[in-house]
Amino acid sequence: MVPPVIETKGLTRTFSQGGQLINAVKPLDLTIEHGELVAIQGTSGSGKSTLLHLLALLDRPTAGSYFLDGTDTAQMTDNEQSDARNRLTGIVFQNFYLIPYATAAENVMLPGLYSRGKHAHLRQRAEELLASVGLGDRVNFKPSSLSGGQQQRVALARALFNNPPLLLADEPTGQLDSSTSNEILDLFEDINRTGKTIILVTHDPLTADSARRRIVFKDGEVVHDEKQTPVRKKTTASADSQHSMQL
Ligand code: ADP
Ligand code: MG
Repeated sequence: MVPPVIETKGLTRTFSQGGQLINAVKPLDLTIEHGELVAIQGTSGSGKSTLLHLLALLDRPTAGSYFLDGTDTAQMTDNEQSDARNRLTGIVFQNFYLIPYATAAENVMLPGLYSRGKHAHLRQRAEELLASVGLGDRVNFKPSSLSGGQQQRVALARALFNNPPLLLADEPTGQLDSSTSNEILDLFEDINRTGKTIILVTHDPLTADSARRRIVFKDGEVVHDEKQTPVRKKTTASADSQHSMQL
């Protein structure tokens, strides 16, 4: 049997700040199967980013266990965690997090630089990924010359570079107007159809509407977890949303 892509038991993250304990993520049992498209919805400060960082192996829990693709992450050394992060997860950070002085293609290639691949091959893969997200004609543009939606597409292409089975996105529509948000959500749906598991973290109920499972987070705990039929206002296809997802 294929293990769930994510399985947590009592996963907890507590911060201590100025002598005060903040229970950012309260003991959490969460299972996410391969191929799911999940939204974790919650107001600001509810613990979404803290959870995402735990799931992306960017932070270690205070207590509890986290099995990523069947492996107990607590048993991994820091190097093994980095390796698992590079192989298994793609992360789309809040505010895109692109390197300003690098071109779109160079930003997308970044995750490949750790794998010692040939530069020409990395470059070719970056260009193919940019084409697949509708930015084939923007490979040499710097982030400042791109719109918010285009920057988010670059961030997405970068997250896909190592072909990870799991994609994690923190407030992917937070900076975008509603029609651009819809285009990005279409893209997530296309990527999900290629078999990848996607977890979107968002404060926006409309963004959470586009997922097939909605988990609502409040004060560090799950208050709602239900499968749903995705609803989204379809946008009229714009030039740069005409793409085929071949990853
Ligand atoms: P969200 O992403 O839902 O807005 P966060 O996960 O960023 O929420 O934060 C959850 C809670 O944990 C907040 O009260 C926040 O202030 C606190 N918190 C997050 N990171 C830290 C940290 N590094 N040190 C102390 N407190 C933190
Ligand atoms: Mg956050």
